[in-house]
Amino acid sequence: MSESHIACPTCGKQVPLSQDERTKSFPFCSDRCRTVDLGGWSDEKFVIKGKELNVEQEED
Ligand SMILES: [Zn+2]
Repeated sequence: MSESHIACPTCGKQVPLSQDERTKSFPFCSDRCRTVDLGGWSDEKFVIKGKELNVEQEED
């Protein structure tokens, strides 16, 4: 099942790969997610993600 879908780069929602099912916003699940991505990733999100990874490795 996962082979026929991919995760929306913005929210992780399952997006159908089938050309019949894929939206105009592909590979995003919706135009909203596409806009979010085009508008520039939230720096905060990236920082938070990086922090989480770094926290495990060092910090202190
Ligand atoms: Zn999405």
